[in-house]
Amino acid sequence: MMIPFGKPIVTEKQKEAVLNVLSTTSFILGENVHKFEEEFAAYCGAKYGIGVSSGTEALYLALLTAGITAGDEVITVPNTFIATSNSIIHTNATPVFVDIDPITYTMDVDKLEEKISNKTRAIIPVHLYGHPADMDPIVELATQYDIPVIEDACQAHGGKYKGKPTGSLGDLACFSFYPSKNMTVCGDGGMVVTDNEEFTEKIQMLRSHGQRVKNRHDLIGFTARLSEISAAIGREQLKELDNWNKKRRANAALYNELLEESVIKPIEKEWAYHVYHLYVIQCEKRDELVKFLTKNEIGVGIHYPIPIHLQPSYIDRLHFTSGMYPISEKIANKIISLPVHPALTQEDVQFVAEKIREFYR
Ligand SMILES: *Cc1c(COP(=O)(O)O)cnc(C)c1O
Repeated sequence: MMIPFGKPIVTEKQKEAVLNVLSTTSFILGENVHKFEEEFAAYCGAKYGIGVSSGTEALYLALLTAGITAGDEVITVPNTFIATSNSIIHTNATPVFVDIDPITYTMDVDKLEEKISNKTRAIIPVHLYGHPADMDPIVELATQYDIPVIEDACQAHGGKYKGKPTGSLGDLACFSFYPSKNMTVCGDGGMVVTDNEEFTEKIQMLRSHGQRVKNRHDLIGFTARLSEISAAIGREQLKELDNWNKKRRANAALYNELLEESVIKPIEKEWAYHVYHLYVIQCEKRDELVKFLTKNEIGVGIHYPIPIHLQPSYIDRLHFTSGMYPISEKIANKIISLPVHPALTQEDVQFVAEKIREFYR
């Protein structure tokens, strides 16, 4: 039995939607993008959505819009996808890391205030693996210091914090629609959502060479739009998202039941609705387990094997050393992500759990 780590679901409705766009020959910033922006923002409980070319671009344009520039500091976590931090570097600001909480794998809010300086201009909590960051204390501190909060919600479409959807918790929130995410546009794509009209206008301009009206460039912008074909697929995917998240949660619940106590299983805080973008366990002999599962044709991942501050592209430029973020460093050697996507059957989950039991026997 071969079990892939991920498997985007492409429905007949999505194929039809693509063919419709091809017949209209309206490919850029047409009806599908506008509707998708409205529908996705509404889903997140936000007023506005701005479709962009990737999750990375969403973060970068959100930072630019919040005024981040050279000399500024932006706080985030070292255990996240590199894009979170690269988007900060691209604005010429400096990323400042706060270690993660060992239970939720998201920002340790008790270590946040000591990292706020008079140069801090934004905080990016990451809703990692589909579990929301503990937003109330983060937003409280940010308000006290008058710093905007940008949610990195690229792994948490449909997640909730105290009943409120991810995307509605900060000043701006960024989503990715890369194929492995909880919903995709079957390629690269992203969205910024916000309640702020000024931010919305600015991001709309930045994604399209600074134009508000054609051939008048008020800002130095980019080509960073979401395409009509992507948006048409995204609209269909959004309709399935809640169902798919329920399947992810059911798969996670079954793992929780079947995996024995020799591994550390993920935890859902009482204030969280976890959407299991990834089902991450900690275990001994991780690298051997990866080999064993791979040999048994079970796709697995590690998210992430090297914390950002220890990446070759970071360690020298920002004078990082190992030992600076001990929780992130410690879990990096123990974590493994098991397949949890909605196309898995119960038998698949049982098979994976059985193989893990076999390995530790
Ligand atoms: C996927 C992801 C991104 C970037 O999204 P892309 O669409 O791949 O550019 C940013 N942050 C996190 C946490 C992600 O998982």
